[in-house]
Amino acid sequence: MSVSYKDIGLVNTKVMFQKAVKGGFAVPAYNFNNLEQLQAIIRGCVETDSPVILQLSKGARDYANQTMLRYMAMGAVQMMREMGSNIPIALHLDHGDSYDLCVSCIENGFSSVMIDGSSLPYAENVALTHKVVDYAHPCDVSVEGELGVLAGIEDEVSHERSHYTRPEEVEDFTKRTGVDSLAISIGTSHGAFKFKVKPGEQPPPLRFDILEECEKRLPGFPIVLHGASSVMPEYIEMINRYGGHMEGAVGVSEDQLRRAARSAVCKINIDSDGRLAMTAAIRKVLGEKPGEFDPRKYLGPARDELVRLIKHKNEAVLGSAGHGREIMEAIAAAR
Ligand SMILES: [Zn+2]
Repeated sequence: MSVSYKDIGLVNTKVMFQKAVKGGFAVPAYNFNNLEQLQAIIRGCVETDSPVILQLSKGARDYANQTMLRYMAMGAVQMMREMGSNIPIALHLDHGDSYDLCVSCIENGFSSVMIDGSSLPYAENVALTHKVVDYAHPCDVSVEGELGVLAGIEDEVSHERSHYTRPEEVEDFTKRTGVDSLAISIGTSHGAFKFKVKPGEQPPPLRFDILEECEKRLPGFPIVLHGASSVMPEYIEMINRYGGHMEGAVGVSEDQLRRAARSAVCKINIDSDGRLAMTAAIRKVLGEKPGEFDPRKYLGPARDELVRLIKHKNEAVLGSAGHGREIMEAIAAAR
């Protein structure tokens, strides 16, 4: 049975992005696969009054079951309201790789989908993305497209080499496809090992010149950054201290993300940092208490750590904190 996201209390990304572009902040897109991650995202965003995009990859759908996920999203909206909050929550498909998957997600209550045709030849990317937009827009569902390829590994998405977005393509692509937002490649990368650097060396800076060129050609158009975790050193240190081996893991500095959030970038994807926060907390509990076997005793602290991370990102990096209620009021006024 198909369901519309509106019946679940979710919103699409349209007003979020308008406000983010104007307000010089970025909306966080956090991935989830299980209960504790979803609880932490809702808590962290409610406590900072931040709009939020809940992201599910194809891998998450395979892991958690799509019907289960739909009810979890419904539960998340109810939980947010019971907390006395009114933040906008979107449910977004991360890296949709086919038209059929996007349709299935829209029928299952998603308010936004990404169709990732970035590894296809340009004309095929345009055709596929346009086809998804044609199905999504009559349902009031937002669509994210991508130009340029990010390196790194994220669930099924894996590329050895990146290639930067070509700014000369962005006007034609957005015009011909009708997408609502565009993911671009300016040097971010998927996963926890984003850059091959020697100890003490800085990873290469993001290509802000490409971002600025895209912005110039598409004034006010929502730009998306994938692979934008900072791979926070305190988590890597904690993981390694309690028996892990993640030497050489490195991400994008928060200073660069702050700069991106102030520009046309209005959606920043954060997945790896959340994974690291939880893994670090779980390793610490199990390292200090080897006899612990109640999942609540290590998943609880992992959830708390994720809440802390999310509040930090919303408040100190993306600048989305404090904009939740205001966006919901704008959405209600537009109805
Ligand atoms: Zn991605």
